[in-house]
Amino acid sequence: MENHKTNEKSNKSRRKFIKLGLMSSVTVVTGIGIASNITSEEKKISSEVKNESSGEKIRLLTPEGKIVEVNETNINNYPEALITPEESRKGIPDRKFVMVIDLAKCKNARSCVEACQKAHQLDFNEEFIKIQLIKNNDESCNYWFPKPCFHCDEPPCVTVCPTGATFKRDDNIVLVDAERCIGCKFCVTSCPYSARIFNWGHKDKFDNKEIPYSPETSVPASEGTIMKCDFCPDMLRQGKLPHCAKACPMGVIYFGDKNEDIVTNGEETVRFSQLIKDRGGYRHLEHLGTKPNVYYLPAVNSQFPLERGFNIDEDILERYKNVDVVEDFIKKNKV
Ligand code: SF4
Ligand code: SF4
Ligand code: SF4
Repeated sequence: MENHKTNEKSNKSRRKFIKLGLMSSVTVVTGIGIASNITSEEKKISSEVKNESSGEKIRLLTPEGKIVEVNETNINNYPEALITPEESRKGIPDRKFVMVIDLAKCKNARSCVEACQKAHQLDFNEEFIKIQLIKNNDESCNYWFPKPCFHCDEPPCVTVCPTGATFKRDDNIVLVDAERCIGCKFCVTSCPYSARIFNWGHKDKFDNKEIPYSPETSVPASEGTIMKCDFCPDMLRQGKLPHCAKACPMGVIYFGDKNEDIVTNGEETVRFSQLIKDRGGYRHLEHLGTKPNVYYLPAVNSQFPLERGFNIDEDILERYKNVDVVEDFIKKNKV
C-alpha cells in the first residue's frame, strides 16, 4: 500500500486536491459585477465587489443582462451559483471526476450525511448519500455502505428524462436542472440505485430566494422537482473536496480526477488506478452496465466492528430500529 502514496498527510494539500485553472476575473463597473465569470477567485471577487457596494446588498449583471441584487455573504458562499447555464451543463474542462469509498474504514459516523444535508439545505430525512447496512451472506458480518449518486457513464436517468433536465457533463458529473424538471419521476424509476429524491415541498423554510439558482449547487430547491447527489461541483470549482469527503473523520471518501489518476481523502493522496488494483476496488452492481464513477474498496479487515457505528446515539438507534441486526444488538446490550 505504501507504494501508491504520493504525498501523505500533507497539511498544505489537505483540502486542495486539484489545481483548477482560474477563469477570467470579474469586472466591476460602477458597482456591477459581470456575474457570468465569477469562479474560484471568490475572495478577490468579494473584496472587489464589497469596495463598490453599499450596505449588505450587491448588484450583479447576469449573463442574460439582468441586474440582480444579492446579499454579499451569498457571494462568498455560492460564487459558483453564478456560473452560466452553458458552463453548468458542460462541466469543468479536462476533468473526469471519480469517487472511491473505503468500506473497511466506515463506522457510520454520519458526518458525510450531515455535511451534505447542511450544504444542500436538506431535511433530516432527505439524504443525497445514504449509509446502508449490508450483509453479503449468512456467514459474513455486516458492514456500512455509503451510497451517493454514482454519476454513471451510461446513466439510464439521463436517457429517460423527457426534458433534458437530467444531463451528463464532460467531467463525469450527472446533474439535475430543477428549472427544466417537470417532476415526472421517470428518472427515479430508472435509477437502479435509488439515488434520487422527489422534493415534496418542504423547502420554503430553507430557501433563500436571494441566491440565484444553479444546477451546480442544487439550491434553492424547487417543490415538485428531483434532487440528488451532485458531486458538489461548486466545491470542485474552488479546488476543494465535496462536503462529504471533507467531513468524514475516518477518511472513508476519496475524491479526484481520473485524467490525473489521483484521488485524495484530504489526508492521503494516492494514484486512483493503483488504489483500485491494490485493494480490489469494484463498482456496485457492475453487471447492470451503467458504469458508475463511484468505486468501492471491500470491507475486508474492517477497522471497526459494526457495533461501533451505533455508538449509542438516539438518532441512529431510531433510524435502524427495524433492522434485525440492530434490534439484536440493542437487546444484547440493553441499550
Ligand atoms: S446512480 Fe442513478 S441517478 Fe445517479 S447517474 Fe446513475 S442512474 Fe443516474
Ligand atoms: S422528474 Fe425531472 S429530471 Fe426526472 S425524468 Fe422527469 S423531468 Fe427529468
Ligand atoms: S458529493 Fe456532494 S452532493 Fe454528493 S453526497 Fe457528497 S456532499 Fe452530498
